[in-house]
Amino acid sequence: MQVHHRNLPRVVVVGGGFAGLAVVTSLRRAAVRVTLVDRQNHHLFQPLLYQVATAALSPSDIAEPLRHIVRKQENCEVLLAQVEGADVPGKKLLTDSGEIPYDYLVVAAGTRHSYFGHEEWEEFAPGLKSLDDALEIRRRMLLAFEVAEKTRDDAERRAAMTFLVIGGGPTGVEMAGAIAEIAKETLLRDFRHIDSSQARVLLVDNSPRVLSTYAPDLSDSAAEQLAEIGVEVLMSSRVTKLEEHAATLSSGETIAARTIVWAAGNVASPLGASLGVPLDRAGRVIVQPDLSIPGHPEVLVIGDMAHCVGENGEPLPGLAPVAMQQGRHAAENIVQRLSDAWTKPFVYLDKGTMATIGRCRAVADAGFMKFTGFTAWLAWLFIHVLFLVSFRSKIGVLMSWGYTYLVFGRKARLITGRRLDVKPSRPAVEAPPPAAQIAATDVQAAEPASAVART
Ligand SMILES: Cc1cc2nc3c(=O)[nH]c(=O)nc-3n(C[C@H](O)[C@H](O)[C@H](O)COP(=O)(O)OP(=O)(O)OC[C@H]3O[C@@H](n4cnc5c(N)ncnc54)[C@H](O)[C@@H]3O)c2cc1C
Repeated sequence: MQVHHRNLPRVVVVGGGFAGLAVVTSLRRAAVRVTLVDRQNHHLFQPLLYQVATAALSPSDIAEPLRHIVRKQENCEVLLAQVEGADVPGKKLLTDSGEIPYDYLVVAAGTRHSYFGHEEWEEFAPGLKSLDDALEIRRRMLLAFEVAEKTRDDAERRAAMTFLVIGGGPTGVEMAGAIAEIAKETLLRDFRHIDSSQARVLLVDNSPRVLSTYAPDLSDSAAEQLAEIGVEVLMSSRVTKLEEHAATLSSGETIAARTIVWAAGNVASPLGASLGVPLDRAGRVIVQPDLSIPGHPEVLVIGDMAHCVGENGEPLPGLAPVAMQQGRHAAENIVQRLSDAWTKPFVYLDKGTMATIGRCRAVADAGFMKFTGFTAWLAWLFIHVLFLVSFRSKIGVLMSWGYTYLVFGRKARLITGRRLDVKPSRPAVEAPPPAAQIAATDVQAAEPASAVART
């Protein structure tokens, strides 16, 4: 039964991601009414999204319904709604389901992809933010192998067997590593007319090194580990044009690739603009040290949407631990305000960063120590399983991973979605030549090595 005392102050939280959920759960014993508003009905564990996009995990392994998470928290209600903005002077949140008055508002709506003014590119190169994105990428990737298996056209087969990941940050590195692993290990015995290990996986980035925010030795290690699993890394290369199944780079070269994934840029939720306070270039709200917005101590912005300066004078990175710590801190400051006490500035406790590169490979920076390879991967595995929201998910994920690890399998290799556009432009009338022959043809017809450096 819902116990909602009308006279208690009302805290409205926008977004059930890492930041918003941390606020809500930290307020479970506070004398407040909490309303959690999200347009999705689930909390998503974004760090494992690439595992859904690459068929290692199923959507329900990494997502949990918000209502289920807060079912025992009697001072909290969940509202499924799209937030459209806020009337800050009138203390009202504006949603597609009507206005919600608040005493305290916490905005934690995260970020979305940025195509740097080329929004039309999204159609050709989806990004990875939501379960829908992950399923779309999985669909495109698996369909590409089907097209390669069917077609008799060499150029079409090469494009189908070329996977281009744009963006050399952690998401791009993880995606490229996982696709290479699928092609070179998981699918090896699934096809009769192609040799999936011949697939090319390219990782392109404008900066001179992968994982450019990591220490240079870890970037170097990541590049080496990517090379070991056959990923071609093209650094200092900017994408200047994207069209269906092709990308043109700043060098002038055009790469034909049926599957292109965008992992290159983020911009904060447009909700920040409705608060009427200064934003940074990435659209993030520039918050006060206590996470409130200037002139309105009752409105707090946290997580990926907040531009909050860290101890080194730089804005804190968009990471789950930052979001969770800010969520807990925002809840504490609301409780402080309720008792007319001073609010406290937010201080981030940095426990390190890590990124995986396929099975058993990773880099990790724990501040006092850096790890690479298998040790880093074990640390990554331990921490990610530990932080999954529910017990059921943890066991489920461990079992899926255990299976994937032991048999190189990816059990979620399902092609779903309405459009099954597997028809090649030149369908096979006769059976295409066997794999060995195709590999030989490919070598002859391949672009010159100088066009794209191969590892
Ligand atoms: C693919 C990927 C991999 C990542 N890997 C890592 C990693 O390994 N380690 C790490 O620390 N971090 C990682 N991150 C970053 C981390 O996930 C984010 O920093 C974190 O999710 C930010 O939390 P948040 O609560 O601010 O936003 P989010 O988790 O994005 O949550 C925002 C919520 O707001 C809701 N919302 C948005 N707009 C509206 C609206 N208008 N109306 C209603 N609801 C709305 C969304 O549905 C969502 O539930 C990764 C991110 C991605 C995308």
